[in-house]
Amino acid sequence: MKDFLDRSLKKITDASIRAAERAQKLDSFSHITTKESLLELVGKKLKDRKIVLVSNREPYAHVFQGDRIKVIRNAGGLTIALDSIARAFHAVWVCYGGANADFKVTDPQGLVSVPPGEESYQIKRIRLNRQEERGFYEGFSNETLWPLCHVCYVRPKFTPSDWDTYDAVNLKFARAVAQTAEKDSLIFLQDYHLCRVAYHLKTLRPDLITVLFWHIPWPNPEIFRILPWKKEILEGLLANDILGFHLKYHAENFQETVGMELECRIDWELSRVERGEQVTRVRSYPISIDFEDIYRQSGSLAALKAGSELAVEQRFQGLKLILGVDRLDYTKGIPERLDAFDRLLIAHPEYLGKVKLVQIGVPSRTGLEDYQQVVTNIENRCAELNGRYGQEDWEPVLFLKGHQDFNTLLPYYRLADVCVVSSLHDGMNLVAKEFVAASDNDKGVLVLSRFTGAARELEQALLVNPYDTLAFAETLHQALVMPAEEQKARLTRMRNTIAENNIYSWAQAILSDIIRLAEDQVLVKS
Ligand code: UDP
Repeated sequence: MKDFLDRSLKKITDASIRAAERAQKLDSFSHITTKESLLELVGKKLKDRKIVLVSNREPYAHVFQGDRIKVIRNAGGLTIALDSIARAFHAVWVCYGGANADFKVTDPQGLVSVPPGEESYQIKRIRLNRQEERGFYEGFSNETLWPLCHVCYVRPKFTPSDWDTYDAVNLKFARAVAQTAEKDSLIFLQDYHLCRVAYHLKTLRPDLITVLFWHIPWPNPEIFRILPWKKEILEGLLANDILGFHLKYHAENFQETVGMELECRIDWELSRVERGEQVTRVRSYPISIDFEDIYRQSGSLAALKAGSELAVEQRFQGLKLILGVDRLDYTKGIPERLDAFDRLLIAHPEYLGKVKLVQIGVPSRTGLEDYQQVVTNIENRCAELNGRYGQEDWEPVLFLKGHQDFNTLLPYYRLADVCVVSSLHDGMNLVAKEFVAASDNDKGVLVLSRFTGAARELEQALLVNPYDTLAFAETLHQALVMPAEEQKARLTRMRNTIAENNIYSWAQAILSDIIRLAEDQVLVKS
């Protein structure tokens, strides 16, 4: 008993020392943009202008829990960054209200104040009926634009009624913004669901400046040109004053597409597209994570304790761990990852009984057949691998299906020897960045698909082509045998990159550009 207590005490003391060391290391990232510096800078420049944020997804959802209504915060990095902007500047956030109690708490205009207890800003919820949800969200957004923009050989569907609904719902968003926005507000639109909002909005409210950030890849013109409504989508996007992409490469693809499809002048030097009076600046702003927060959380006593508890679980004891964390989407290359793992076990039988692939997978867009198929394929493939290689006390694959909150993900990031991101095409991929921020200081190798936006920044990852199974398997081997000093050196380099380009520097770059543009317009008018 005494031994056990001594060991526990030592573990806690070691953990406290490591947490303190980690906190100290944070000071070395002192030049990074923080939430506070972002708010201060934006606050100074914003003067009297208001910000309106617009996204399909809502930052807070109201749901029934029995007879009571509970508020759930959408905890993605992007939402958290935009939420801090919304709170500081008393913004309005226009979004689709899809939760079952959402309209029980709104006023007749669809407005509700959030966050609970603080009520510093307002959400304006848009109501969509089932047919609108189907055509706008599932149909045109996720069965047309999503597969069109991700090169992974899933054929986009072109359904005229989905397009009509998509455009009508975009008009609904535009009307909601027009009703809510004060004069000269700055409108910040998110993603491929809202391509046509600025187009409709500019006729309703020409005083508003709009920026849209495109979160997914923009394909090359040969791919985009098959879309029957390509002209309408391009015109919709060009109605924005600024259009943001993750990568310069995507921004250039967009300009080339526009050059091929529309009458316009492209200024490559200034990265602008001019059509008559309308000028659209096309910029790249690579999105990121709240590095500081994740780094700090990962060094907290709670995370260290959860990590140690996970490490001693029977099913992980003595094993090297390869980790995958994804939405269950056909773009994420999960079957390709399982193929490479299979090949690893064939080429290196010394790993039998010694390594485990843990795949955390969140079901997504479950109403769509293509997505149901993804889940079934992965389940079958995992079962097949376990059936073929499994031993009495060891199974090669653990598939954890379901959404895990970040506190549950953290110990996996810390414990993993290797994190694999094998997307066939991905705008950025935040899991790769989270792993680097959260992993233990000395341990962890990132194996990263070349076809992610993150691969452009995280050059010290082991880059793979997920379609090349043999090379992918050998890269997994290389990751598993990488010396500790090399792991540390690579992690440190990547961590510095992410610390500098974090979610707040992303938001600051966009907001600074839009504020500068607003200032220029005042100069031109005066
Ligand atoms: N994520 C999560 N719980 C899970 C799995 C994933 O919260 O069980 C989060 C993960 O931490 C990351 C995001 O989902 O922040 C996935 O973002 P990414 O850019 O990697 O892919 P996306 O799903 O946006 O295509």
